[in-house]
Amino acid sequence: MSNGSNAPKAGIVVVGSLNADLTIYTDRLPNPGETVHGNGFAVNPGGKSANQAVSASKLGGQVSLIGAVGDDSNGRMLLDSTANAGVDVSRVRRSDAATGVAVISVDAGGENSIIISAGANGTLKAPEPSDVEADAFRDAAVVCLCLEVGIDTVVAAAQAGHDAGATVLLNLSPYAEVPEVLAGLSDVLLVNAHEAALFLGSGADIPDAAAEAEAWEPVRDQFADRGLQRVLVTLGAQGSVVLDSLARGTEDQITRISPTRVDAVDTTGAGDAFTGAVAARLAAGESLAEAAAFASVAAALAATKKGTQAAYASREEVEAART
Ligand code: ATP
Repeated sequence: MSNGSNAPKAGIVVVGSLNADLTIYTDRLPNPGETVHGNGFAVNPGGKSANQAVSASKLGGQVSLIGAVGDDSNGRMLLDSTANAGVDVSRVRRSDAATGVAVISVDAGGENSIIISAGANGTLKAPEPSDVEADAFRDAAVVCLCLEVGIDTVVAAAQAGHDAGATVLLNLSPYAEVPEVLAGLSDVLLVNAHEAALFLGSGADIPDAAAEAEAWEPVRDQFADRGLQRVLVTLGAQGSVVLDSLARGTEDQITRISPTRVDAVDTTGAGDAFTGAVAARLAAGESLAEAAAFASVAAALAATKKGTQAAYASREEVEAART
């Protein structure tokens, strides 16, 4: 498909979830059947896709978000938050169901437990070729997906992105088994170490961050055997690794991205900041390794502030931190 000009496509389409994060802070998490006192409560915009869209937009991406919210105050908060970050929310549908929520408990040590109620996210249907959603794909350089909405919707969005010639970026989170067809449609897979191990199964041995690049060769090959030639594995404060079977020259096939050292205050949503940044830089024409290096700084900066979307850095802030 053509975007009607010779300019390269630069758009980013994020298809997926918007949730209100209802967070209660407590000294310790309750056992089953037990009630404990909390010592603080906050309602914040969240949902992996909304977070990823905001991250990509703040970093200069032209982002269109496709999702669904209810006709309620949480839905309005989410639309305001994403729109204020520059995201095009005109394709976020209003559903009869309540806006999705994540009920989060955080203890004094930062350990959390989370229950998600999909609500309106569960009503998000696959884009149809005739739908207004399908228009968004015309100018898409990158289509960014995660697993917080129904798998049929994710597969259909991946197919629409593939058909439009976009790079399909799949964040395999929260982890779920995916049909083979989705792996085949995904140009770049983004996983943390835990998700990588689950995806590859019992035979997989994910190296620790200190391991040499060669230690990642079997992992790269196992992903390639499953049809995934380009994979980004995030390793929390230890950085990330790019496994790129398509990169020319063996030295470029495995690139370890050193962590950006920061005083982390809150790492919630760092993974989404990272994913959104990768989408933004791939859409700007960077290589996967270049995009991951940029994303590493963006995600580290996000960890220096409390919260998710409000903590995400602008492109200027990331560039200043890189010099
Ligand atoms: P999330 O908690 O958002 O679900 P995740 O498990 O998906 O995170 P991580 O691997 O924890 O993802 O983090 C993603 C990226 O964020 C890392 O690869 C790293 O670049 C950056 N990052 C995370 N935590 C830190 C930290 N404490 N210091 C610096 N960078 C960090």
